[in-house]
Amino acid sequence: MKLIRPLVERLHPYVPGEQPKIPGLIKLNTNENPYPPAPKVLQAVRAAVDGRLRLYPNPAADTLRAALAKYHRCKPENLIIGNGSDELLPLAIKAFCEPVPEQPPLPHGRKISAYTVQYFHPSYSLYPVLADIHGAVSNPVSLKADFSLPSLKQLQSDGEYDFNAAVTFITTPNAPSGRGYSTNELNRLCKATQGIVVLDEAYVDFAEENAAALALRHKNVIVSRTFSKAFSLCFQRVGYFLGPAALISALHKIRDSYNVNGLGQVAAVETLKNLPYYRANIAEIIATRGWLANHLTRLGFQVLPTQTNFILAKPPGKPAESWLGALRERKILVRWFKQPEVKDYLRITIGTQNEAQALVKACKMVLKAG
Ligand code: PMP
Repeated sequence: MKLIRPLVERLHPYVPGEQPKIPGLIKLNTNENPYPPAPKVLQAVRAAVDGRLRLYPNPAADTLRAALAKYHRCKPENLIIGNGSDELLPLAIKAFCEPVPEQPPLPHGRKISAYTVQYFHPSYSLYPVLADIHGAVSNPVSLKADFSLPSLKQLQSDGEYDFNAAVTFITTPNAPSGRGYSTNELNRLCKATQGIVVLDEAYVDFAEENAAALALRHKNVIVSRTFSKAFSLCFQRVGYFLGPAALISALHKIRDSYNVNGLGQVAAVETLKNLPYYRANIAEIIATRGWLANHLTRLGFQVLPTQTNFILAKPPGKPAESWLGALRERKILVRWFKQPEVKDYLRITIGTQNEAQALVKACKMVLKAG
């Protein structure tokens, strides 16, 4: 008897960026924030580590949802918290997209769109894996050569985009390109799409604008956010969805009862009380981003415009994969993706100013070595 489902046997799992323990390594590969959480956040987490660890946390993270409701000027009913936004993305597929029956044909009267998870390509490489896990149909839609979004007219005429797809993910600003999309163009696309649109704003705190208002304006739009990037809390795993109460309540029905750990809830609530600290860090990261983009450009890198805490850059002289190895030898870890559209680029997380200087120095040495 086969113990493992064929779907799982076939699955290519998502491969997260490395977390190596190499002393002195400059880690610029997983878009973590180089600055620690605010001192009061650390205090709050320490203070919460006591006998209460034996108790279950608040099941719906009510205190955090109330604080976020104030932050977004919405109701707690518009919010669901997850164990990182990575927990909520598959929950949206589970709630809104039908899995394809193992035995075709599709039930009478159902169109393929009801089984479709759609996303632009290249973007966050987790989406196709989540679609596969669910047994959904994946519909990758090509971005333009400069990684911008095709216009609504183009999407309507070239036929690749399914306006009725059950779930469409849009990473905005995008990863790994770093490119930001305007709220106006997102609004047009959300309006024209009949299915659910999840605007994945994991990096939006480093961008010029955000599209949170769309989640409160359209009945089919959800905005996904995380405390991992701008708020230095990767380790605690806290993310959330903002959206219409009807969609959010469907998601609450199918989440784990205690999906967000207690210390994560404490840390996120305290984070929202210390926003000026984080705004200063974000400003610092944006300044370092500009400095690094300038210096890499001078060395011959082709640096793409970015609205995130990373840059995508095409290195000079030798293949990007060789650069990955050469920088690693100099104890600097960046990210390289083998998909054809981005294989000529390195994705570099913006660290501290010192780390950026060390990277530029290492690049000069790599260029000198030839
Ligand atoms: N969305 C995008 C586009 C990301 O790059 C990431 C981080 N890998 C996430 C969501 C997930 O973030 P988290 O689970 O830490 O909230």
